Amino acid sequence: MDKILRIDMGAAGGPKVSEEPVGAYAGLGGRAMTSTIVSKEVPPLCHALGAENKLVFAPGLLSGSAAVISGRLSVGCKSPLTGTIKEANSGGQAAIAIARHGYAAIVLEGKPVKDELYVIHIKKGEVTIKPDKSLKLLPNYDLVDKLKATYGDKIVCMSIGPAGEMKLGAATIAVTDMEMRPSRHAGRGGVGAVMGAKGVKAIVLDTTDLKMRQPKDPDKFRAANKKFTEGLKSHPVTGQALPAFGTNVLTNILCEAGGYPTRNFSHGVYADAAKISGETIADIETKRGGLATHGCHTGCVIQCSGTYVDKNGKFVSKQPEYETVWAHGGNCCISDPDVIAQLDFLDDNYGVDTIEMGATIGVAMEAGIIEFGDAQGAIRLVNEVGKGTPLGRILGSGAEVTGRAFGVERVPVVKGQAMPAYDPRAVQGIGVTYATSPMGADHTAGYAIATNILKVGGFVDPLKPEGQIELSRNLQIATAAVDSTGMCLFIAFAVLDQPETFQALIDLLNAFYGLSLTADDVAALGKQVLSVERDFNARAGFTAKQDRLPRYFLTEKFMPHNVVFDVKDEDLDRVFNW
Ligand code: SF4
Repeated sequence: MDKILRIDMGAAGGPKVSEEPVGAYAGLGGRAMTSTIVSKEVPPLCHALGAENKLVFAPGLLSGSAAVISGRLSVGCKSPLTGTIKEANSGGQAAIAIARHGYAAIVLEGKPVKDELYVIHIKKGEVTIKPDKSLKLLPNYDLVDKLKATYGDKIVCMSIGPAGEMKLGAATIAVTDMEMRPSRHAGRGGVGAVMGAKGVKAIVLDTTDLKMRQPKDPDKFRAANKKFTEGLKSHPVTGQALPAFGTNVLTNILCEAGGYPTRNFSHGVYADAAKISGETIADIETKRGGLATHGCHTGCVIQCSGTYVDKNGKFVSKQPEYETVWAHGGNCCISDPDVIAQLDFLDDNYGVDTIEMGATIGVAMEAGIIEFGDAQGAIRLVNEVGKGTPLGRILGSGAEVTGRAFGVERVPVVKGQAMPAYDPRAVQGIGVTYATSPMGADHTAGYAIATNILKVGGFVDPLKPEGQIELSRNLQIATAAVDSTGMCLFIAFAVLDQPETFQALIDLLNAFYGLSLTADDVAALGKQVLSVERDFNARAGFTAKQDRLPRYFLTEKFMPHNVVFDVKDEDLDRVFNW
């Protein structure tokens, strides 16, 4: 991982490939790499869909090695949805393949002069780029079938569906999983629209003869990997709950806590939660012959994913994540798991973010376009997005645009990005993260649910403002560091609770690179990443005024707790004072 691959899509005479040593970006990985390149090289005031924006794909520092659960991919750019810097994180096989090709980053630059659609193929050090108009508006699943027929089945694909080609704000970049399905997505912030603007339909990474990256100190690395794995397996969240029920184990937990945003963030308990809970969906999957425990990439030892099949055992979608089940389920008052799995597939196939789409449909329901609970109506709306009808283009541009188009006041977004599956009034720590994260509303940026609800890493009362600033700050710092390693964020449950597991993670990094990092160095990396991101946002025109929740979260009381978001503005402004 000592080189950077740059592809200028706007070069005279067609796309131009160059490679350079990692140089000034040495020592960076994942989010640290994407955010640093974007912050240094992209003019903050550029148009996100213009030639000046860059799209950066970066594996984490440990990706491609034998370190367990280290195959997460960071995708960075200026976001067309938020206007801020963006890192969207994805599972799937791409980070491992990019790292084993020796790239610390792949950077797409410029913009084609002609209306072309390209496939970039990377094999044994050779990069070929071919225009292929036959791929136009192909959804992701058909596209990957076609790419397999052309390039063989030893490949990993990163691709966009029709939404990316239409440059919609909710567009994702799909990444193929271990079964070569385009089921994992760099979902948030419209990164797929930036890939569409670059005229790139897919990046195909050949995996023939790729070698595992080797550590500097194999014995210490092996020992740390063993200890780290044992720590993940022994923690009740990473060793039991997530493997058994997936992230959707949270449906019952959030409803019991009264923090499950039901009916477009109107109430904290969904009466039909039992019909769509993780326990119910795992049971359906097992009985029908799907999979309730499965990894999204090679080397994952938590395996929070699964495979959802229909009554005849036919594949419908990967196991829908908690956020997807909430977005299309409780948020829209839809309680049929088969419909939710179908919506998940449609989102993946068209290439749109399930969180943004579910929140958008909730706003559309509030506008009266369809009724709450109208499952077939929701399917119809997502199909409108895929077909690119005028209504579909509005919906595919996200919740904020949809709210404006239809005159809706209650639109749950921060910096233009839809809130995920936790109401900030009932879980005030996550409200601080939504408000202040450089990425817009994003639960993964500082997952306060861990400490507010799951009592991991201590306990901070979710209904009170006290302690939330410090909680969100520390989690945002830790997350920025974890996102740079290539590790899945879910390791945080074990790392926060078990000092020896945290130490094993540091030992992994030290043994791999021959370093002697301490916990303070890890925290310093997280702070450095956040500082770079906030600096970009400041230069893009963002101020403290945008680090706020929509006003109705401060005035509209949330049931059953009868609370509003109560963290003061001046305290929100202290989050990044360290
Ligand atoms: S824990 Fe889940 S999200 Fe994380 S790497 Fe494993 S399967 Fe993917």
